[in-house]
Amino acid sequence: MTGRRIPPFPATSYELREHAPALNWIGGRFVDPGNLQTLEVINPRHGRPMSTVVMSGAAEVDAAVDAARRAQPGWREWPMRERAQVMYRLKAKMEQHLEELSWLVSHENGKTREEAEQSVLKSIECAEYGCSLPNLGAGEQLDVSRGVNCRVVYEPVGVCAGVTPFNFPLMVPLWMIPQALVGGNAFVLKPSEQVPLGAMRLAEMLADSGLPDGVFNVVHGGREVVEALCDHEGISAVAFVGSTKVAKLVYARGAQTGKRMLCLGGAKNHLIVVPDADVALTAQNVVASFTGCAGQRCMAAANVVAVGEVDHIIEAVVAEARKLVVGKDMGAITSQQAVDRIRSYIDGAEKSGADVVVDGRGAQADAGGYWLGPTILDRVPPESPAARDEIFGPVLSILRVRSVEEALALENGNPYGNAASVYTTSGEVARYVTERLDAGMIGVNIGVPVPREPFGFGGWNQSKFGHGNITGWDGFRFWTRPRKVTTKWAEQKDWTWMS
Ligand code: NAD
Repeated sequence: MTGRRIPPFPATSYELREHAPALNWIGGRFVDPGNLQTLEVINPRHGRPMSTVVMSGAAEVDAAVDAARRAQPGWREWPMRERAQVMYRLKAKMEQHLEELSWLVSHENGKTREEAEQSVLKSIECAEYGCSLPNLGAGEQLDVSRGVNCRVVYEPVGVCAGVTPFNFPLMVPLWMIPQALVGGNAFVLKPSEQVPLGAMRLAEMLADSGLPDGVFNVVHGGREVVEALCDHEGISAVAFVGSTKVAKLVYARGAQTGKRMLCLGGAKNHLIVVPDADVALTAQNVVASFTGCAGQRCMAAANVVAVGEVDHIIEAVVAEARKLVVGKDMGAITSQQAVDRIRSYIDGAEKSGADVVVDGRGAQADAGGYWLGPTILDRVPPESPAARDEIFGPVLSILRVRSVEEALALENGNPYGNAASVYTTSGEVARYVTERLDAGMIGVNIGVPVPREPFGFGGWNQSKFGHGNITGWDGFRFWTRPRKVTTKWAEQKDWTWMS
């Protein structure tokens, strides 16, 4: 299958459905895979293949960058208001195909249908932000002295690339694409090889929304493609979202060729619970945070730091977690390898003296799929791997401390800095703690403190390498460069002809 069309994804339930193979999209069409190697795309709910993905190399990156370089000069000539019209149309198309896109994300990623829909709606919100850019990106100007004017114009950087993780197949690419495209750039997307299918629908929908051929391209693959993108002299900026280990490597590699880099990494989010917290709100919220997307999101609760006498709240958290039905309320884990990794953290914590108060090992929904139930570990030693590493699964570690100061020391001592929250009914405690948490996104009585548009998304410390946030206005600034124009005109002596 090559050309401009793939059949719509036919699923209307969790029943396993096959989809077209994931091919590269270069210059406005799906490209013949030739003899490229392929990898199976596995539906995690069933543990069975639903498609294949081509594993490209440097030659495919070259072809995509060539197409992008040819298209970008024409695209940047479009007034920004016209470029933004593509985002309006994309938004409308995504809304029109919400059902199909939600099932597609659910099938390739393993999320529940409801979670998948939420993620598509959030992707649409990102496209909507792109629609607003002509109103925000007007630049600034000022008469800096008599007859001298300075103005700032946001110019594209040229050809850009984005590398994205498995956990949000549409949303994370759409953290990048609206700002990059409306900013006048051409783009090469390298989606996770585990979830390559949403990107194909996105490419088609962008083309159907009037985006000129070559402005958006998709190259599938793994490390080889990412390294080729980092090394390519024709690319000016790369954004990456994934694990900290890879974020660091990609950041350093891309910087070697002078690229602008923004690399978001992993997380270990601490939720501080104090005795005056609202019991029902905290229980519901903490459980939603650590079990949503089966814990496979960078904003998930990892550690609850329980301050003082909060047993009544912990009991409510445990009761709430026990209500969840795996397969219905919670989706699948991405792979068997991930299940094994997560289980080894639970086993290790148990051996080091933690109480497994809710045990998700052995949970099973659809046969053959990759499953784990919600797991709560209490009295986890702070130095143990379960308390320190990113587990990236539905596991909550509870660390007991005596004071808010001790809780802050634990949070501040972890190397990540994506998100952190405090649960309290006291304004004073909320203010004190939020001012001292060492993380970029803070919640007060909110376990997934994602800053919705127009606020920018981005953590601190080992959760992000590079400057600024990836979404919102910072995102636009990342994909553009400010041109400063200073103007002074010679005085017009004989200007009577003007009147
Ligand atoms: P990952 O780091 O394994 O992969 C991310 C991307 O990098 C993929 O496209 C993959 O093909 C590529 N890649 C993998 N190994 C590579 C290598 N050695 N060199 C170059 N490229 C390589 O991450 P994942 O498992 O897909 O996603 C989960 C991770 O992403 C978690 O750590 C999670 O916290 C993080 N994440 C962070 C954010 C954030 O905003 N900070 C958002 C979503 C996910």
